[in-house]
Amino acid sequence: MHESNKSNVVQLSSILSEEYGQINWKPRHDAINELVYTILSQHTSDINSERAFRNLMSSFCSVQSIATASLLDIEKCIRTAGLHKIKAARIKDVLNIILKRVGNFDLTFLAEMPLEDAKDWLKSLPGVGPKTAAIVLCFSFGMPAMPVDTHIYRVSRRLGLIEPKVSADKAHVLLEKIIDPDQVFAFHMYLIKHGRKICKALKPRCGECVLASNCPSKLKLG
Ligand code: SF4
Repeated sequence: MHESNKSNVVQLSSILSEEYGQINWKPRHDAINELVYTILSQHTSDINSERAFRNLMSSFCSVQSIATASLLDIEKCIRTAGLHKIKAARIKDVLNIILKRVGNFDLTFLAEMPLEDAKDWLKSLPGVGPKTAAIVLCFSFGMPAMPVDTHIYRVSRRLGLIEPKVSADKAHVLLEKIIDPDQVFAFHMYLIKHGRKICKALKPRCGECVLASNCPSKLKLG
């Protein structure tokens, strides 16, 4: 199962790279900012979280200032992200725990750790689950952690890469096992693009899908 899924991923990746172009990893934010950004992005759209992140970063000069700011001041800046009270408390908590544990906000030591240890370190922070941990490690350091968002979860189940009943949390590890570590970032981006554009939640456009001949769900959905 593993081996056939591995070769399936190689094939899917090559088709998607033809469709969407080659995608190379480049860091988005440094790790501490990526962590703040990702907490803001929980349960909301990219547009809302980006706006909240920009507002937060322009209102405070540094993460150090956010860590010592009042909750009310943080909440005001991140209203657009939704759940602003919960997220403000989470961001402040996480920053202060990191400061206490590490002595500063430099998380580059995570890139030197084995992947599972780095994930566990991040997941020990309040409100940080497998997806948030994977985003920080993958986007900031290019580590082969596969963040599974709603699009990736849906598309990979339809493609038969994971069983339908596997939880989203478990999907992270299962997908990492079948994707070449060098391809994790690109495959993550391809599945998101494909999920947004073609393999939509309610009405997948199987008739236009370049993966149709590799997809066990085509007949059921298309
Ligand atoms: S064939 Fe349909 S279900 Fe399968 S990946 Fe394409 S759009 Fe999604």
